[in-house]
Amino acid sequence: MIPSRRTAREAAVNIVRILRDAGYVAYLAGGCVRDALLGLEPKDYDVATDARPEAVRKLFQRSRYVGESFGVVLVYVGGHPIEVATFRSEWGYEDGRRPTRVHFTDAEHDAQRRDFTINGLFADPLQRDGQTGGDRIIDFVGGRADLQARLVRAIGDPQERFAEDYLRMLRAVRFAARLDFQIEGKTAAAIRPSAKYLGQISRERIGQEVQWMLTGARPALAAWWIQQLRLDSAVLNEDHLDVEAATLRRLSAEAQFPTALAAWMIDRQVGPATLEAAEDFVEHRAEVVVPRWRTALCLSNDDRDGLRAVLSLLAQAHRWPQLKVAQRKRLLAKGAWGQTMLLLHALADAAPAREIDQQSRALIAEGVAPPPLVTGEDLIALGLAPGPVFGQLLDQVYDAQLEGRVTTRDQALGFLNEHTPTP
Ligand code: ATP
Ligand code: MG
Repeated sequence: MIPSRRTAREAAVNIVRILRDAGYVAYLAGGCVRDALLGLEPKDYDVATDARPEAVRKLFQRSRYVGESFGVVLVYVGGHPIEVATFRSEWGYEDGRRPTRVHFTDAEHDAQRRDFTINGLFADPLQRDGQTGGDRIIDFVGGRADLQARLVRAIGDPQERFAEDYLRMLRAVRFAARLDFQIEGKTAAAIRPSAKYLGQISRERIGQEVQWMLTGARPALAAWWIQQLRLDSAVLNEDHLDVEAATLRRLSAEAQFPTALAAWMIDRQVGPATLEAAEDFVEHRAEVVVPRWRTALCLSNDDRDGLRAVLSLLAQAHRWPQLKVAQRKRLLAKGAWGQTMLLLHALADAAPAREIDQQSRALIAEGVAPPPLVTGEDLIALGLAPGPVFGQLLDQVYDAQLEGRVTTRDQALGFLNEHTPTP
């Protein structure tokens, strides 16, 4: 069952009500308050409370600890998992995953330990705000003013806050890009000199942030901030570069993470790219850069393969004008072709993409991957033993089929007969 957004909020409000009825303080907290105030659909809802984790578990049967010592209980209401966190005074990470210890505290101190003012808001869904008629907002950190001013501002001293958890530097970029906010001056100024320390953070957390950025609303803006703040060198394990993320900017929102990575890679490594320049990069330098990015971003095998696939298909697309019909059809039938076309259309010179699109239309209408008219079994029936010739023959007859030179099974068998070497 896919739960609807509306009921996710209702589930969270329900949890707040039950906690309140039991005598605790409980609010909606963090990202969901920020997004609701911006008129955006919250990704998920978090509840913050002064009830201790044990008490939360007792109140909600369908719940489990996700970080008992950090005060987080996952509560399921109507199929929605809602994180219920006890107000805490530490958010810092040392090993790169979890705070080493937490102390439970009150709402105000909890807010002050959050990362950015826009993330430090609470909402009381059981009371109305006199002015807006929405939830009553509890703002200890000036988050509402910064939402108005469209600013990502660290809570407290930015330098100290980044030193507690260097990943916050990337979180600042992610929120700025996603919301199209500025990063407040002192906050941005604190990032540049600390950028080199990002390398202390686990590559997995860095990669996760980058994935969120590149698959978010404004990936090119994220790339721009990363570069402006000199984070690119620590993020990608390569020298800082001043380049424009133009391919990434033109890339369709349908692009998946590996395709966005490929676009960003082309922007950094090739610059304003023609298909020819991009192909040259794929042929000569990608084999060095792809493994570097894989390590830097802790890419999964799937993402690494996806990245390689679009780059390799891009290089093949460069040869499109010389390809025969069968070769074109084989290309069009590849799983990563759709994503590759998105990348081609985003290149500085999109003329080849337009030409390929136009010329593929008729081929697609004919069918680019019809079921083969003959198979290996037919070859065996003809007395041929499986071996290298075997595969070649099947490729040849399938090419003939794709090009319309053989159209029936009888013709295909005839083709095999003609082309089978006599023993
Ligand atoms: P998203 O919509 O991307 O989930 P979010 O604001 O909900 O954004 P989360 O990572 O889900 O971000 O974290 C929830 C809240 O927890 C944040 O809004 C913030 O208040 C707090 N938080 C999360 N990570 C940190 C951190 N590293 N340091 C300080 N506070 C944090
Ligand atoms: Mg969240």
